[in-house]
Amino acid sequence: MSHHLESDERGIILPCPTCGTANRIAYAKVSQQGRCGTCKADLPLVAAPVEMTSPAAFAALISQSPLPVVIDFWAAWCGPCQMMAPEFAKAAAQAAGEALFIKVNTDEQQQIASQFRIQGIPAFALMCNGKVTAQTSGFQPAARLLAWMRQS
Ligand SMILES: [Zn+2]
Repeated sequence: MSHHLESDERGIILPCPTCGTANRIAYAKVSQQGRCGTCKADLPLVAAPVEMTSPAAFAALISQSPLPVVIDFWAAWCGPCQMMAPEFAKAAAQAAGEALFIKVNTDEQQQIASQFRIQGIPAFALMCNGKVTAQTSGFQPAARLLAWMRQS
C-alpha cells in the first residue's frame, strides 16, 4: 500500500499490470481508463498516491485534472506523516476515478508548499479546477480523510 506513482510535466507514469510497460497518462485524461501502448490491455485507474517532483508537474496537474486533487504535505522527519502514509494510500485506492491523491515533500518541494498556508504537517489541501476549496491538517484515518474530501 506504500506504492507511489511517478509523474512529470506531461502526466502520471502508470505501469501496465499485464506487461510492465510504463505508460504515461496525461493529466487531462486521469478520469478515464487508459490502454497499454504495448500490449493494449486496459490499464487500471490511478489508485495510488502520485509523487510530485517539480513545480511544473504540479502546475500542469492542477490546471488539467478533471478530478478533484487531494494533496498530502509531508516530510521524511515527520512521525505522524509516516503514520499517515498508508492511510493516504488507502484513501487513494478507495477513491480511484473520483479524485487524484498526490504527495508533496515540503523539504524537497518548497516552491509548491509555499503556495499554501501550511502551519504543521501532515497537512492536506483539496483543489478543484485549480483552486483550493478546503484545507485541514493532522493525522486522520482514510475514512475521515475521504469524508472530509466528499463534504468539502
Ligand atoms: Zn501492457
